[in-house]
Amino acid sequence: MDQCYWKAKVAHRRGFAIQRKLLKLLEAEYAQKREGTHVSDLVLCIREQVFRNIEPMPIDEKDLVAYALGEGAHVALEKLAEKGGGIAEKEIKLNGVIGTIDVFDNVPIEIKTTRAEDDTPRPYHIKQLTYYMAMTNSNVGILLYLMVNDYERPFRFRTITLSDTELSEARKEIETRSKFFNAGLAAKDPFIAPHVKKNPDLMWKCQYCKYREKCWSRED
Ligand code: SF4
Repeated sequence: MDQCYWKAKVAHRRGFAIQRKLLKLLEAEYAQKREGTHVSDLVLCIREQVFRNIEPMPIDEKDLVAYALGEGAHVALEKLAEKGGGIAEKEIKLNGVIGTIDVFDNVPIEIKTTRAEDDTPRPYHIKQLTYYMAMTNSNVGILLYLMVNDYERPFRFRTITLSDTELSEARKEIETRSKFFNAGLAAKDPFIAPHVKKNPDLMWKCQYCKYREKCWSRED
């Protein structure tokens, strides 16, 4: 065997070592994020979030790539926005619930990256932004979509407006959903928490959920 072969073999092993290290670091990052109740615990499937907290699953390559792609675009845009006077990663709190707004520039701005061609705002993106609007008492919010597969119009945004009554309803919803989440955690029982099995906007989550088998083994 020549020297080149062995060098390639060592480099290949180093590649695997880096991958393992990154996975461990991401696991630690997620564990840190799990402390407290976050808006992200309440927007999609609360039951899945309870499962994640009490029975964390190993992070895999797909999680790592999804994290890197999502965070990469966020960090770049947030950095630019901050130079223009906006506040990136603004942390907000309401009745013990923590939210982190991508950019706050008088109004909350939520950045989403999508490979889809359809730019219709997803109901769960609107819900997340609605929660940030409610927590900052802002009647206006912006959803900013980065359409990574559209070279013609890759940058699109939608303005969402809510009345004072709608803001107040959203605050109540945050409180109720937070109670379910915390009850599930306290009892260490994900089945106390609401699921999305029959929710047409969110049932796609079940397809990728690491707790699917357990969750679907029980009738709801
Ligand atoms: S399988 Fe579906 S309903 Fe059950 S925890 Fe996962 S996402 Fe939620």
